[in-house]
Amino acid sequence: MKIMASAYPEIAHFIGGAWQRGVQGRPVINPYDESVIGAIPRATASELAAAVSAAESGFRIWRRTSPAARYKIMNEAVRLMRERIEEFAVLMTLDQGKPIAQSRLEVLRGCDIIEWDAAEGLRTYGRVIPGGAGMRHTVLRQPVGIVAAFSPWNFPMSSPARKIGGALAAGCALILKPPEETPAAALLMARAFADAGLPPGVLNLVFGDPAEISAYLIADPAVRLITFTGSTAVGKQLAALAGRHMKPAVMELGGHAPVIVCADADPRRAGALAVEGKLRNAGQVCVAPTRFLVHEAIADEFTAAFLAKVRTIRIGDGLDPANQMGPLANRRRLESIQAMVDDAVAKGARLLCGGRRIGERGYLFPLTALADVPPDAKISSEEPFGPIAMISRFQHLDDAIGTANSLPYGLAGYAFTESAATADRLAEELEVGNLSINHFTASLAETPFGGVKDSGYGREGGVEGLACYMVVKNVSHLTQRPD
Ligand code: NAD
Repeated sequence: MKIMASAYPEIAHFIGGAWQRGVQGRPVINPYDESVIGAIPRATASELAAAVSAAESGFRIWRRTSPAARYKIMNEAVRLMRERIEEFAVLMTLDQGKPIAQSRLEVLRGCDIIEWDAAEGLRTYGRVIPGGAGMRHTVLRQPVGIVAAFSPWNFPMSSPARKIGGALAAGCALILKPPEETPAAALLMARAFADAGLPPGVLNLVFGDPAEISAYLIADPAVRLITFTGSTAVGKQLAALAGRHMKPAVMELGGHAPVIVCADADPRRAGALAVEGKLRNAGQVCVAPTRFLVHEAIADEFTAAFLAKVRTIRIGDGLDPANQMGPLANRRRLESIQAMVDDAVAKGARLLCGGRRIGERGYLFPLTALADVPPDAKISSEEPFGPIAMISRFQHLDDAIGTANSLPYGLAGYAFTESAATADRLAEELEVGNLSINHFTASLAETPFGGVKDSGYGREGGVEGLACYMVVKNVSHLTQRPD
C-alpha cells in the first residue's frame, strides 16, 4: 500500500543555530509526478558572510570541546535521526524519487557513518618522536578549520553524513550547501544536531545558487578545506578555485565502473546481482556498475540471467513499497539518459531491454541494457549516471583489464571470479579507488572511499577520511638548554 506523503518542510538557511528564510529561490520538484512540493531560498552575499562568521564562532567552541563530549553530541544526533527515520525516508523519496526501502537504508547508512566517525574522533592520536638529549618532537593532529561542503542530489542523507561526520569528529565547523533538488534530508540532519545540543555555528546550511556559493566560500580566507561530491566537470572547476586560494580539497567525482566477469564465475549469480547493483537509486550512483565485460564462455548465460531478472523489477512511485526502482531524480537526467541511449543505438549498439521513457509525466526510465556498443558512442566514454548497463565480451583477461583502465575515470571497479590469483591480479592492476570482488558493495563507514584519475582525490570514510579533516603540526621542544 502506498505510503502517505507528509508535508514538505519549509527549507531555510541554518546559520549560527537559527533558521533564516531568506530570499526565495528555485522550486523543489517531485520527480515521480513533476509536482512542485517546495522551494529553496537563495543565499545572498551577506547571508554567506554571516554563515562564515557563525562558523568561526562555532569552531572556536568545537575545537576546544573534548572528543568525548563531541562523541556524545554526535551520537545523540544519530539516535534522533534513527528515531525520525520515517520522516527522513518519506521526504527523501518525495524529492529524490528513490524507493522508500532504499531511502530507509540510506538513513541507516548515514547514521552508521556519523556514529563510526564519532567513535574514531576519540582516537585522533598524535605521536612523540624521539629527539636528542633534551629535545622532544610531538606530532599533533588538529582540526583543519572551517570546511565548505557541497553534497549532491543522489544521496541527500548519506553524502552529507560523510562530510558532517568527518568534520565534526575532527573538531571542525562546517558550512554545508545541500543539493538544490533534494534539500529536505540535510535540513532534518541539522535539526537533529541542534536538538542534540550541537553548539550554534558548528554546522551551518546555506541553500541557493551553487556557483555563487562555492565562489564566495572558497575565496573566503576563513574557509580552510573544500569537500565536494558531484560531477568531474564541476569538481575540476572547484579544485582549480581551491588551488588558486591554496586550499586543500576532497573531490569525490564521477565514475564509469567496469565489472569483469571471469570465465570461472557463476554467470547466473553475477547476472542477477548485476541488476540489483544497477537499479539502486535508478543507477544514479557514482559507483554504479556500468561496463559489464563478460568472458565469452559465459556471456550468453550472464546476459540471459540479467534480462530475466530485469523482467521481475517493478518501476514506479517510490512511495509504493512494491516498486524496486523509482524515477530519475530530475529532467536533466531523463534527457541525458535518453540522448545517450539514442546515440548508442544510432551508432550500432543493440538494445537488449528498456531504452525509452515510461509515460509522459514524471521521470521514469526503465533499466536498459545495450550490447555491442561502439567506442564512438558517447556512453562508451561518458558517465551515464542512470539505469544503463553495457554488456560486452572478452576472450583474454589482459584485454578486459585494458578496457577497464582505458577511461579517465577511476572510482569503483568490480570483478567476479573464484580464482585467488585472478583476484590478486585485478587488485594490482585495475586503476580504481575501490574494487569489490564477487559483490557490489563499494563502501562502508569504516572503509576509505574515493577515486583516482578524473574521479578525484582525498577519501571519505575510514581513518583515511578523518585524516582529510585534520592537519599535522610538529612541535619541537628543547626541554633542557645545553650547558
Ligand atoms: P552538475 O554538474 O550540474 O551538478 C552536480 C552537483 O554539483 C550538484 O549537486 C550541484 O549543486 C553541484 N554544483 C554544480 N555547479 C557547482 C558549482 N559551481 N559549485 C558548487 N557546486 C556545484 O550535474 P547534474 O546535472 O546535477 O548531475 C549530472 C552529473 O553529475 C552526473 O552525470 C554525474 O556525473 C555527476 N554527479 C556525481 C555525483 C557523485 O556522487 N559523484 C553525484 C551527483 C552528480
